[in-house]
Amino acid sequence: MDSHLSRRNFVGGALVAGAGIVAGTALSACSGSTGGNKDTTGIKWDKEADIVIVGGGAAGLWAAVKAYDNAFSTIVLEKEPEATAGGDVRCCGGYLLLAATDPDVLLSTGSFGEANEDLVYDIDEYGTEAIDWLVENKYMEWLDGVEYNVIDGTGPAIYEGLLQAAKDCDAEILFETPGYSLITKDGKEVIGVVAGPEDARINVKAKYAVILATGSYAMNEELMANMHLMGMEYFSVGAPYLTGDGLIMAGELGAKLSKLSKGYEIMYLVSKAASKEMGTGIFCVPPDNNSVVIVNQDGNRFIDEYTSFTHNKGSLSLFDFVGDMSTCRSDNAGFVNNKMFEIVDQATFDSCTLGNVHAGCSWANLMPEEAGGYLWSQDNQAELDRGWIIKGDTLADIAGAIGVDPAKLEATVEKYNADCAAGHDDFGRSADKMQPLGDGPYYAIELSLSVIYSIGGLTTDEFGRTLSWRDEPIPRLYSAGNIGQVVTYLQPIGVNGCWGQAAVAVEGITELEPWDSDLA
Ligand SMILES: Cc1cc2nc3c(=O)[nH]c(=O)nc-3n(C[C@H](O)[C@H](O)[C@H](O)COP(=O)(O)OP(=O)(O)OC[C@H]3O[C@@H](n4cnc5c(N)ncnc54)[C@H](O)[C@@H]3O)c2cc1C
Repeated sequence: MDSHLSRRNFVGGALVAGAGIVAGTALSACSGSTGGNKDTTGIKWDKEADIVIVGGGAAGLWAAVKAYDNAFSTIVLEKEPEATAGGDVRCCGGYLLLAATDPDVLLSTGSFGEANEDLVYDIDEYGTEAIDWLVENKYMEWLDGVEYNVIDGTGPAIYEGLLQAAKDCDAEILFETPGYSLITKDGKEVIGVVAGPEDARINVKAKYAVILATGSYAMNEELMANMHLMGMEYFSVGAPYLTGDGLIMAGELGAKLSKLSKGYEIMYLVSKAASKEMGTGIFCVPPDNNSVVIVNQDGNRFIDEYTSFTHNKGSLSLFDFVGDMSTCRSDNAGFVNNKMFEIVDQATFDSCTLGNVHAGCSWANLMPEEAGGYLWSQDNQAELDRGWIIKGDTLADIAGAIGVDPAKLEATVEKYNADCAAGHDDFGRSADKMQPLGDGPYYAIELSLSVIYSIGGLTTDEFGRTLSWRDEPIPRLYSAGNIGQVVTYLQPIGVNGCWGQAAVAVEGITELEPWDSDLA
């Protein structure tokens, strides 16, 4: 794609022309940052910028662009090397739908009216402006020219465009430099970040503010277990290294967490063994050949195997995760459907892939192998060899291998096959998908639920400031993106919502004076 911007045309009005964003504060804001360094903290600073952004994904990189528009210098601290950086934006589906969503809907059905109204409207407006500007300046383009729908090339193309935009805006991006902890003045005011690997930490000074944009915590097992539904085993299908680092950093300063686990939870089903091994969710979509059942640990079917979950929290009821506690088993096996297995016959195994090839976007599907990507094979052989698929000559053999009562599994398959003949299903599976299980050998895959990202986290106000449990802004600490998911419970704000929130944070920072000017 032809690029893009020169510094001159950007600050001089390209952003305004492209998106209608007011750039009037641009040059005035930088006046404080170029003065002499009066820092008397005694800290040895290795690097410094006006704004230090922790996390180079959707929110962080757009924050760098907006910072430039306001004449702030930036350092982006990014945990990963360039080949894998970018987090969830790099593997997202590319649907930029917030622009087409009425903010009143976000406020009402999306959040029961509990979201900060000013913030919702600003995020909506600025998020849309971000899209317009990025498209107008050719950092990305709409698929087939259809506006406010899907970006051509989905997540990888969005990341590439964003990264280029941030680089064109003079952001200093330090890859493989994770933010570790926040540096404060007097224990309160945030003035920098300790970053880098354990054996090579650096102190990075933030003259105006720090923006935390480390994304979701869906890959932090402990946080997910503590903050989301009890007993539910999740595999995120997002970037494998999103472990909630920013939450932990802000938590050390008393940051308030909110909206945890309120919204979207579940996407497709994934292979448990494959997801564990690969460190990210590996989809197991219902196979094209329909001789398949899903059974729970008691050997019973409990669901239409072809249910479409479309990352909806409501689907959880199908799995009994939100049901009566009495359905929770005492033998450390959790809810009865917590352990579930897909069972297919030889015909299905031979005729179609059992894995993620059709399932759309996920880290595994979109990333190259060297970056942790994985595409399930068409003939399922590689997965059988890896032990992700278990084989048994008979149903009883399969049952034994997965710890299910053999007689129970045989009875379940017998009933299912009879229902196929009758064209009826207790769970509403459509008749055209009711194909009996034929001869063995049989194959089993242990399944789990998947999420796309965590919900909730840091709490920000309408100026992008990160709040403490006393509802006071933590001085000079801002946050944006999935680290908070601040807007709604039921409607995710997605990539352009993160952009909008990043713009809110930068706009908030324009109100500050640099902290080192009062230390003379
Ligand atoms: C499979 C999938 C599909 C999706 N599809 C869509 C879609 O179609 N449309 C849509 O709008 N949204 C979609 N989303 C959601 C969207 O991708 C996220 O909302 C968005 O990327 C969040 O942006 P973020 O900046 O908060 O986090 P991310 O984009 O995840 O970026 C976080 C960054 O922080 C870095 N980081 C983490 N910890 C540290 C640390 N300690 N120090 C330094 N850096 C750190 C990470 O490496 C990463 O680069 C999808 C998400 C997934 C997973």
